[in-house]
Amino acid sequence: MNALAQRIATLIETSGAISVAEYMAMCLFDPTDGYYTTREPFGVKGDFTTAPEVSQMFGELVAVWLFAAWRASGNPLPCTFAEIGPGRGTLMKDIMRSLARLDKRIVDEASFALVEASPRLTRIQVETLADAPAVVSWHETVETLPPLPLFIVGNELFDAIPIRQFVKMPEGWRERLVALDDDRKLRFVAGLNSLDPSLLPSDAAAAPEGAIVELAPARGATMASIAAPIAQRGGAGLFFDYGYLEPGIGDTLQAMRRHAYADVLAEPGEADLTAHVDFAGIAASAQSHGLVAHTATQGDFLLGMGLLERAGALGAGFDDAGRERVRSEVERLAGEDQMGRLFKVLAIVPRGVAVPGFSS
Ligand code: SAH
Repeated sequence: MNALAQRIATLIETSGAISVAEYMAMCLFDPTDGYYTTREPFGVKGDFTTAPEVSQMFGELVAVWLFAAWRASGNPLPCTFAEIGPGRGTLMKDIMRSLARLDKRIVDEASFALVEASPRLTRIQVETLADAPAVVSWHETVETLPPLPLFIVGNELFDAIPIRQFVKMPEGWRERLVALDDDRKLRFVAGLNSLDPSLLPSDAAAAPEGAIVELAPARGATMASIAAPIAQRGGAGLFFDYGYLEPGIGDTLQAMRRHAYADVLAEPGEADLTAHVDFAGIAASAQSHGLVAHTATQGDFLLGMGLLERAGALGAGFDDAGRERVRSEVERLAGEDQMGRLFKVLAIVPRGVAVPGFSS
């Protein structure tokens, strides 16, 4: 048992079983043993590789989208270009380089901001952006961003925000909790909290005993904190993640360690712990602030934004090996059996602001 598992066990012994959301929050953000606070998650030597770490083309196309959203909003300056949950800072670096090429005025007059919850990752982002073409500021939450039109992106942020789970029991849906077994090992149990039936997806009635439903009020709240300033002052948001467009039944809580699935309860804080994103859920949160939501698969979005054309232009400057590398990056980002279909993208914009990359 690692140190965090010991502490979670003691917490459960003294105050009772904890929710999946509390467990996730401790695993990911415990100040001394949490995953994002202490570990190096990214890349070949880490636990997983994200789209901006796969290829610079991802950030370049996101920059083109942000630029289009900014123009469709009437070129507001000053304004803020922000990223929430920036990891190593690679995406913002690619975005800033591309925006500087698209319109120099943007890097001269806009403010650039990163919203990051982990002090350790903030330090890495400071290094990544040391030579950035404009000054960058850091924030722990969206609330302290400057009161300006806000153009914001997030990649693999929402999957890291804790969810709650409910399990179908003979007596109804009950909250799934983390408790201890007789050997003081962590295990899942059904608690006493029940679930308001109006929150269940439509296929819940037919689900068998043991079926799991996931709710993510914290994700809705984070989305609301982003949508509110956009609704008030203008701007746009673009969010990529793995997940589903229609809500449904199913357990998607997963632990990822060294690029392989791991046991969710085995070594808390040592593996990345996530759950798939319910895109309809976070879209509804933005819509409740009066914004319009567009969704697409990552593959369709990137191809629609010109991924193949960008790959052709980038590859033209390389030798055969370089062109092969660009080809394999395209495949990873947009291939149906890679990130293209599992990953989705959500855009949120004020009514009347037309943005590229979405067919509906
Ligand atoms: N976007 C990056 C990193 C994804 S990992 C990439 O694509 O490579 C998730 C990131 O979100 C980490 O930087 C983590 O510390 C951050 N994070 C998680 N919850 C957050 C929150 N509530 N507010 C801000 N950042 C958060």
